[in-house]
Amino acid sequence: MNITQPFGDTLALIGNTPLVRLAGPSETAGCDIWGKCEFANPGSSVKDRAALYMIRDAEERGELKPGGTVIEGTAGNTGIGIALVANALGYKTVIVMPDNQSKEKMDTLRALGAQLVLVPPTKYADPAHFQHVSRRMAEETEGAIWAGQFDNVANRKAHIEGTAQELWHQTGGRIDGFTCAAGTGGTIAGVGMGLKEKDENVRIALTDPHGAALYNYFAHGELKSEGSSVAEGIGQGRITANLEGAPIDTQFRISDEEGLVWVERMLREEGLCLGLSSGINVAGAIALGKQLVAEGRDNPQVATILCDTGFRYLSTLYNAEWLASKDLPVFDWLAQAATA
Ligand code: PMP
Repeated sequence: MNITQPFGDTLALIGNTPLVRLAGPSETAGCDIWGKCEFANPGSSVKDRAALYMIRDAEERGELKPGGTVIEGTAGNTGIGIALVANALGYKTVIVMPDNQSKEKMDTLRALGAQLVLVPPTKYADPAHFQHVSRRMAEETEGAIWAGQFDNVANRKAHIEGTAQELWHQTGGRIDGFTCAAGTGGTIAGVGMGLKEKDENVRIALTDPHGAALYNYFAHGELKSEGSSVAEGIGQGRITANLEGAPIDTQFRISDEEGLVWVERMLREEGLCLGLSSGINVAGAIALGKQLVAEGRDNPQVATILCDTGFRYLSTLYNAEWLASKDLPVFDWLAQAATA
């Protein structure tokens, strides 16, 4: 039996997530596809890891002191991770987010005790963009730090020291490929760097959604986006500090429709309720698995990230009206429930 040891405190619950073989994706790829269950973190997403590392890093640098405040501009999972970690360590949390985000996210952050500051959505170049507003608030608030997840490399360190090591041990050092999509890029860069240190032959693939610029950057050296995506938390238009030096060997572009196929199949066939970035990652992992099989690698082992729980998207991904309003296919049983 594989029972984990008891933990001495709740923050130790972050990371050390299970790795699970995904039956449908493995069959489709013709090799083993593994999913790292990041939805099993206390905040139900991969971002708990970055939240913990950024806060610990600010403490170590002496910037965050007892009773201090953590401020971040984020629309979702990072804010949830920060609020939980800050509660556990006695800090206050202020989250600045665009006012067009889902009510569920606002309710969740408020429920966790974060102070929410809502600002109108605008482009990144505008000083009123939520990320700039949050940075200025931190500069002007006594005892506050700005987490700054995009360019704060404590984010990817969480994956170099955590996720990558875990994957290496969980696969017994037998891992041929890893892929995931990038939001800040902390996960793909950190896992890539950590695994390459163990074995430089592990192939690291970026899986990019439509509407992001990284696929073209790694394929053709030009930051250029095409199309769009409704996936939350992924899709980057620039080389963040976390992405600098990321060891990307190859890249795939995956549509929302392809990702949704796997969101539906993972739920219907394997009992996992996931968000769309996980579905896109699974589709990317299948593409990587097929590529390695075609090159003649013997039963390649490919891993990806199951980033967050689908329970966070009940009013969107799991809602027939919302899917139809985005011209996305409605899952069979949602369509039936809608007409019942
Ligand atoms: N999926 C979801 C649902 C996320 O919230 C995030 C974080 N933005 C990611 C994937 C991507 O992770 P990273 O920021 O490490 O690139």
